[in-house]
Amino acid sequence: MVGGADNQLDTLTALSEADVAVSGKQERLKALDEERERLKRSVEVCAERSKLAESLAEKVETRVRTAHRAVEAGREVLRHLDARSASVKNMQQHFAVKTETDTARRNLQAAEDDQLQAMMDQDDARAAAAGAAQALADAKKALRKHGAEIRAEAEEASAELKVIQRQREALNERLQPATRALYRSVRGRRGGPVLVALLPDGACGRCYTSVPRQRQADIRSGSTLYLCEGCGVILRPAPAG
Ligand SMILES: [Zn+2]
Repeated sequence: MVGGADNQLDTLTALSEADVAVSGKQERLKALDEERERLKRSVEVCAERSKLAESLAEKVETRVRTAHRAVEAGREVLRHLDARSASVKNMQQHFAVKTETDTARRNLQAAEDDQLQAMMDQDDARAAAAGAAQALADAKKALRKHGAEIRAEAEEASAELKVIQRQREALNERLQPATRALYRSVRGRRGGPVLVALLPDGACGRCYTSVPRQRQADIRSGSTLYLCEGCGVILRPAPAG
């Protein structure tokens, strides 16, 4: 209970509002910071994916080159066998060359199948790498664009926060020590409102605990600060109107 509360009550109300505004600004700044972190993280994730897709595409290109060489080698073997078959001297040689040619044809066919598969994989890998590069570019663009917006808003919010904190300090200094201590203890006890209006029926506007009649009169006159016996908030008169 603190006497002579009239002007103190106005100061206390303004201080309480300033504290709510400070918390609001601090939360907004935190949210902006988190949003910026999220955008940065997104760029990092996209960069990792893009790097991975690039390295997969490089591996597939190596496979394509290897398959190409295998096909070339297979064709060279067949050309050789063709030349040999033109100069066979007997049936035995003829069958020998034919057997080798059949094997070489099967090998070439297998090499060509590998090459075709590798080329199809290469198309997929290139498309995946291009998609990942695009996603990375988009993420960087989003960071540049929203990052700048976030920075601008954060600077504005920081400046506003400083103003509110100065106002808050000025209000705090205008409180009598006992009122200041009361406010600090109620505010420090828990979250939620510090000042709550007394309802027309004489109950606390927060927890609906009834306030003794004589105290209701004191609270309504603004002459004394009382804490609600139920929830511990400072009770103030209902706003006029
Ligand atoms: Zn209460």
